[in-house]
Amino acid sequence: MTPSTALPHVVIVGAGIVGTATAYYLTLAGARVTLLDARTPSSGATGASDGAVSVASKRPGTMMHLAREARDLYAQLVTDGVLAGAFHTRPTYLFARTPEEVTLIHTQGRDLSGEGEPTTALTRAELLSQVPGLGDRVLAGLKVPQDGHAIGYQVVSRLLAAAGITPQRHTAVRRLAVSQGRVIGVETDAGRILADRVVVAAGIDSGPLLGLSDIMIPRKGQLIVTDRAAMGGAAFPGPLMSAGYLAAKRSTVPGQRSVNLVIDPLATGQFLIGSSREEGLTDRQTDAVTVSAILREALDVYPALARQRVVRTFAGIRATTSDGLPIIGRHPTLEGLIIATAMQGDGICLGPMVGGAVARLACDLEPTQDLSALSPTRFSLASIDN
Ligand SMILES: Cc1cc2nc3c(=O)[nH]c(=O)nc-3n(C[C@H](O)[C@H](O)[C@H](O)COP(=O)(O)OP(=O)(O)OC[C@H]3O[C@@H](n4cnc5c(N)ncnc54)[C@H](O)[C@@H]3O)c2cc1C
Repeated sequence: MTPSTALPHVVIVGAGIVGTATAYYLTLAGARVTLLDARTPSSGATGASDGAVSVASKRPGTMMHLAREARDLYAQLVTDGVLAGAFHTRPTYLFARTPEEVTLIHTQGRDLSGEGEPTTALTRAELLSQVPGLGDRVLAGLKVPQDGHAIGYQVVSRLLAAAGITPQRHTAVRRLAVSQGRVIGVETDAGRILADRVVVAAGIDSGPLLGLSDIMIPRKGQLIVTDRAAMGGAAFPGPLMSAGYLAAKRSTVPGQRSVNLVIDPLATGQFLIGSSREEGLTDRQTDAVTVSAILREALDVYPALARQRVVRTFAGIRATTSDGLPIIGRHPTLEGLIIATAMQGDGICLGPMVGGAVARLACDLEPTQDLSALSPTRFSLASIDN
């Protein structure tokens, strides 16, 4: 990255995967970075999520296209040594339980092929040969062989270590410091920090800082962790992703509260099973009603789970928008401010790529990807009250 002007001092609000990746690329370029977190790195959605670096489920268009690029970047970061051992390629298995769902996964297969993504349609027998123990109601599948997996908090700690960045923990930004239509820094309890550019990557908490509270929608997700089914690695090659999950991702209509099943066989031999989509909820509690609904559906799809014990449940909050797309770009009216938030349920996949793009924006360069569909200008932003 060769910036057009002298390298800026950039304050980044939020040390989740997006803020950290931005800090990583800016540090690599030689910029001065101050990375702040109200709590600790990965204490937001990044530390409370599944790790699908997945193209299989993405909505056709911008998200599918960007996810392919983002997944390639993971492979590159492995080659570079930064994420060696922290990302691996594995298939995703979309599965269908009704004729309508069979049609849906085949439609997704055509859309993926249109993007150049290899896929294989599987009969029930073929799917069963790759994922033994499937329930009777599973009719067919679609295999997407080149997907991947990474654990969000591992990615964050690797990026911090590789660039030698020490985030300032427990430093909440209370508001942006604005002077003459320009953001000149941030206000914290410990005082003002001046900067040439400010990047807000504070996940769902970006709303109040940016005057985006009416646009951003929290969506809670509950997840379940089991004990080990296998001692020698994952119980089957890759996650089982329901057509219902796919339908929710393809939809542009904000969902109701629902369970959209994914059974993820982890490299530890455990399963991570999720998740709920609970619009409007910001608490991180799990509850017996939702956990049992997820487990009931999981047992229907993969009865072999009955042998496992549940060892933990947890919940995270996705930051979403009414149109289901992230918000990435320069603020339309306030100079010096860059927004990188609302990663939906896709921020582990997209995070490193978004960080690279935002680092370029902070250095007055244009991203190498076309992010115009994600621009904040698509919303009429409320003024930021400072
Ligand atoms: C249940 C669940 C499952 C998911 N599964 C997947 C998946 O399989 N694949 C995938 O790609 N994505 C998945 N996601 C989505 C993914 O976790 C998020 O999109 C991603 O982590 C968002 O990263 P972020 O850096 O934007 O925000 P966050 O990780 O939320 O980070 C924001 C940070 O900002 C800090 N902060 C907030 N306010 C302030 C302030 N005022 N001052 C300073 N710091 C502040 C917070 O403490 C936090 O550390 C899932 C999410 C959930 C909840």
